Amino acid sequence: MRDLEVHDVVIVGAGPVGLLLAIELGTAGVKPLVLERLVEPDRGIKAAAIGAVGVEALERRGFGRALDEEQVTMPTAKAARAGTGPVRKPGGHFSALFVIDQDLQRDPERHSRMVPQEALERVLTARAGELGIELRRGVEVEGFEQDDDGVTVRTSTGPLRTSYLVGCDGGRSRVRKVAGFEFPGTDPTVTGYQALVEFDAPEKLAKGWRRTPRGLITSIPGRVFTAEFDGPPPDRDAPITRAEVEAAIQRVSGTDVTIRSMSKATRWSDHARQATTYRRGRVLLAGDAAHVHSPFGGQGLNLGLVDAANLGWKLAAAVRGRDQLLDSYTAERHPVGARVLENTRAQVALARPDPLTSALRTIVSDLITLPEGNRHISEMLSGVGVRYDLGDDDPLVGTLVKDQLLTLADGGEERLYALAEQGGGLYVSPSERSLPHDVRHVHTKEGPSMLVRPDGCVAWTEASSQSLDHALARWF
Ligand SMILES: Cc1cc2nc3c(=O)[nH]c(=O)nc-3n(C[C@H](O)[C@H](O)[C@H](O)COP(=O)(O)OP(=O)(O)OC[C@H]3O[C@@H](n4cnc5c(N)ncnc54)[C@H](O)[C@@H]3O)c2cc1C
Repeated sequence: MRDLEVHDVVIVGAGPVGLLLAIELGTAGVKPLVLERLVEPDRGIKAAAIGAVGVEALERRGFGRALDEEQVTMPTAKAARAGTGPVRKPGGHFSALFVIDQDLQRDPERHSRMVPQEALERVLTARAGELGIELRRGVEVEGFEQDDDGVTVRTSTGPLRTSYLVGCDGGRSRVRKVAGFEFPGTDPTVTGYQALVEFDAPEKLAKGWRRTPRGLITSIPGRVFTAEFDGPPPDRDAPITRAEVEAAIQRVSGTDVTIRSMSKATRWSDHARQATTYRRGRVLLAGDAAHVHSPFGGQGLNLGLVDAANLGWKLAAAVRGRDQLLDSYTAERHPVGARVLENTRAQVALARPDPLTSALRTIVSDLITLPEGNRHISEMLSGVGVRYDLGDDDPLVGTLVKDQLLTLADGGEERLYALAEQGGGLYVSPSERSLPHDVRHVHTKEGPSMLVRPDGCVAWTEASSQSLDHALARWF
């Protein structure tokens, strides 16, 4: 064991979650090693949008400008700028019910961004490189054994040793399986496709989302998404053929439209499973490795990015000997994941093509149209309604703080998220007090005081039922 290469943290998987976790650790002063089995980034079709709290986790690390540059402009936004259409912030949908009005939200500015996952991975990879984090491509993790002091990892290029191993290796996570995490949940009922295609006669397909007697379909130029509710794919691993996708489109749409060319395609289903804990000793899970569900509502990336933000600074503290913070990772993030699984199950149920479901959809749609219903669904999908149970009576404590303009004691102004970029905790207050070395005092001119953790979670406010000393000692 003495001759093995040794690391503090090894992250398995350079998807968005593994990359953001690496950046979080790097920001907190710990350089992990990232192992990725693919030699080149995966060019398959993945997320088209990042949900609100995932966006905010990125903005707190200074990715705001990069997200602006990579954002895909929707036709509605182009029309708004040209003065030919309404300005519409992306509010998302619930089971293809497009009744969410972003402007009815408490904080309409907290919304998702149309940034393709491929672009996000490129931006994150570049930042990880700037932080001096090593990403080793073409290395597959094959197995590992953990003991009291660390984990010995077997990879396709040889063994290495690490204090902590994190599986960010996606829905079929080997780390999860080898470590023996339980992964209960519900079995799949849907066969869906998402494909980049060109049709021979595209006018045969109506634009936008449609629920038909055979399923659900949406088509925008160059891209099509289908769902059929009569069982999972017979073979999840079989190569996807053009004929298979074409047949699904024809069945669901009821047209004889034909595909001229297909460049990429994914087959998806609605397995909804979640690890019962995200930590077994020195092995942890984040992102799809910890939870899988259907892509309804586009929430997987949002969930995984906030897992990474929650785990990163706690893992850095564990590397420095404060291991006990790690237990709060499962306690905080597992309930959030469980709620996402539930809402994706509900969305699948609501999309089924039978007339009884149609009746239910009408009622649910009416309820979402009410302002309170609208807020409830929107805050659930975007994640801004998340509140960790930190045992404090103040409703703000445990929530993820929104960005805000602060007036500083010297009269200057600064955005809270900009102040968060370098990591560590923030004590935002006009009052002086002694602080641990990893908490910075943001000296405001006036206004309420609060303590914000490195993951944006409000840990204490003036209205807290617990003392500031308690919060500082607990988290820093
Ligand atoms: C069709 C579709 C549409 C989606 N749309 C959205 C959306 O609009 N919004 C949204 O938020 N989410 C969406 N999602 C979900 C989103 O794509 C996932 O939640 C996201 O990719 C999860 O990221 P991750 O880093 O956890 O895992 P992954 O992206 O799966 O990355 C895991 C990485 O680990 C590597 N790996 C695996 N095993 C090993 C091993 N043994 N050794 C080394 N490396 C390994 C893999 O090669 C991969 O690079 C969609 C998903 C699908 C399928």
